[in-house]
Amino acid sequence: MNIEQLYRQVIMDHYKYPQNKGVVSDPSYLTIHLNNPSCGDEMTVQVKVDHNQITDIKHQGTGCSICCSSASVMSVTLKGKSIDEANAIIREFYEMIKGYPFNKDILVGDAIVYQGVSQFPARIKCATLAWKAVEQGINKIKEDNKNG
Ligand code: ZN
Repeated sequence: MNIEQLYRQVIMDHYKYPQNKGVVSDPSYLTIHLNNPSCGDEMTVQVKVDHNQITDIKHQGTGCSICCSSASVMSVTLKGKSIDEANAIIREFYEMIKGYPFNKDILVGDAIVYQGVSQFPARIKCATLAWKAVEQGINKIKEDNKNG
């Protein structure tokens, strides 16, 4: 098995057996809904933050395997991180997706399987949709905290 086959396997595993899937009706979660019309992906992400720490992430969406698996990977990667850590990880993820050098000490775990997406510009929005949603959510929470 070469590295690309391994990456594809990890993506398919997250697609078939997503982690943290399903939304909750709990007002302590912030809900963000984004879509990607170019592919037809729809993604809802819920994030719960306690004292600047992401204590839970949920996601529910329909779309292609890249989009749905990436939501699962995002939830596993960012759950338990502080808002600042999460923002740093998200930044490195975007760099990687665009094909730029990225910090492998910051972006760790299954997220690196999307490296190859940079060669398929049409799929970049698929891979980043859930990450954009959670980024919006934590930044809104950060703003709200700042404003007291
Ligand atoms: Zn897609």
